[in-house]
Amino acid sequence: MREQIFTFGQYLHRKFGVKVSKVPVSISGFTCPNIDGTVAKGGCTFCENDSFSPSLDRAKELKGFYLNLQSTKNPHLEKQLDQLQWQFDALSKRLSAENGAEKFMVYFQSFTNTYAPFETLKTLYEKALSFDNVIGLSIGTRSDSISDETFHYLAELSLKTEIWVEFGIQSIYDETLKRINRGHDSTSVKEAIRKAKSYGLNVCGHLIFGLPGETKEMMLNTASEAYSLGIDSVKYHPLYVVKRTALANEYARGEFKPISQELYLEVLKEAVLLKPSRVSVQRISAGIDDDSLIAPEWCKDKNTQVRMINNALKTAGLKY
Ligand code: SF4
Repeated sequence: MREQIFTFGQYLHRKFGVKVSKVPVSISGFTCPNIDGTVAKGGCTFCENDSFSPSLDRAKELKGFYLNLQSTKNPHLEKQLDQLQWQFDALSKRLSAENGAEKFMVYFQSFTNTYAPFETLKTLYEKALSFDNVIGLSIGTRSDSISDETFHYLAELSLKTEIWVEFGIQSIYDETLKRINRGHDSTSVKEAIRKAKSYGLNVCGHLIFGLPGETKEMMLNTASEAYSLGIDSVKYHPLYVVKRTALANEYARGEFKPISQELYLEVLKEAVLLKPSRVSVQRISAGIDDDSLIAPEWCKDKNTQVRMINNALKTAGLKY
């Protein structure tokens, strides 16, 4: 009998008693301090910034308009609220029809979703929480882009609704973070996660396996350290190369070799075995099924990936 890995879906079902789905939204005007020049330019080497927009044409209607933490005015807030409503309506309807979701968690996914004036964040988050059948929010951000004011506000919100903050940890090795032009070090991530936990917030950590120059031991050390920081949920991803990124250039010059499927499966299996059982899993792989993917080829087909992963987990008596 194989042991089922504790998934985020199970966590939500146990807590809310029905199927809950995350509804990803992408609001125009949000950017990232690692792209706009505040901490660096160009972004992480693997980030194809446009790829974040979930192909919703209306997400592009404010092209050229960007917020940052110093912005004092936001002339496009009404348009952003409209986008939020439109995206939520369209996706929640689809998720209900396709997988029977009865309740929803709005996931602010693209770019850095705490990197805007506080009033803008508050208005958008509260609008999202006002939609029918929404049980809470998950907010994707960077460790260097969340103010004390926002932490405090989210902590208050979390007393009456479900609040998650998602941080890109990626690696605990500063040499790796530097090499991928992350724009912050591992201390920044550790401090942000500790702070989020001290505010009583739920934290999801994103980990990438196969970063340039990393060994299996380094990847597993990152996973162990992430768990020890007290994350409540985890997303595991392989690093893959897409067009129009700095990583694509490194790959073309032969300076980066993507992780093999075999190694990814090995690392993933061990990372799951090291994981405390209370930490839920939100994602075990990633890929892209279109011609923007350069390498590795195995990241193209999600179904095959999931099958291979389950075969690997089987050898450890686990299933996803
Ligand atoms: S932090 Fe996120 S949005 Fe910003 S450059 Fe890196 S991957 Fe892209």
